[in-house]
Amino acid sequence: MVTIKRPEEVARMRHAGTILADVLRVLEGELRPDVTTADLDVIAERMIRDAGATPSFLGYGGSRQTIPFPGSICVSLNDEVVHGIPSTGRRIGAGDVVKLDIGCIWQGWHADTARTFAVGPIPERLTRLIDATRRGMEAGIAAAVPGNRLGDVGAAIEAVAHEHSYGIVRPFVGHGIGTAMHEDPQVPNYGRVGTGMRIEAGMCFAIEPMFNLGGDDVALLDDGWTVVTTDGSVSAHFEDTIAVTPSGPEVLTRA
Ligand code: MG
Repeated sequence: MVTIKRPEEVARMRHAGTILADVLRVLEGELRPDVTTADLDVIAERMIRDAGATPSFLGYGGSRQTIPFPGSICVSLNDEVVHGIPSTGRRIGAGDVVKLDIGCIWQGWHADTARTFAVGPIPERLTRLIDATRRGMEAGIAAAVPGNRLGDVGAAIEAVAHEHSYGIVRPFVGHGIGTAMHEDPQVPNYGRVGTGMRIEAGMCFAIEPMFNLGGDDVALLDDGWTVVTTDGSVSAHFEDTIAVTPSGPEVLTRA
C-alpha cells in the first residue's frame, strides 16, 4: 500500500534528511587514505545519535541466510555496489571510489541518502561515471511530479545510463519511505514512459540509481550483504529522499 504523507510527517522526514546531510558532509571530510570504513561508521553513528535520531541500517534485516546488518552506514568501495559492511580491517586507499549510504529515523520518520566520492585523483572515465549517476538521480527526481507515472522516473534514469552505455543495477531499486525505510512502491531505475503507478502529491520516495562502468550484473559476497559487479567494474550510487508536492519534487536529504 502506498501512503500519502501529511505535511507535518514530511517535516519530520525533512529533519531526518538534514541530519543525514550533515553526516555526509563530515564523512566526506574524513575520506583519505588509511581511514578505515569502521572509522567512518563510528563517526556517523555518534552524529546520528547526538542529533536525537537512530541509525536505521544498524540491525536491519537478517534471516537464515544473512546476519542483521552490523553497521550504521554502508561503505562500498570500487566494484562494490551497495551494502558494504564497515570493517576495522578495511582501509580506504588513494584512487578509491567510495559509496556512503546512510539512513536514520527521527521521531518515527525515515530518511535515506547515498553519495559517491573519489579519494584523490581518479581516471576521467570514473569521474564521468560518478557524474552521470548523479545526473541519473536528478533526472529521476525531476520526473517525480504529480500526474507522472513511476515508469517516467525509471525511464528518465535509464536514459542517462544509456547515453554512456553504463550498466544499470536492476535487482536493487528505489522505494517508498516513511515510517519504514522500505515502503511500497518499488521505484526501479529503468522503465517505460507512461507506465506504472500514478504519482501523487504526498508520496515520498528514495530515488537511488546504481550505474556500472561495465555490465548490469551483480553478485552477493559470502558476507551475506556486500553486492559487487560480476565483471569487477566500478559502480557509482546516488540517493536522495524526496517528497512529491503539488508543485513538484522536494528533496529532503540536503542541508
Ligand atoms: Mg534506499
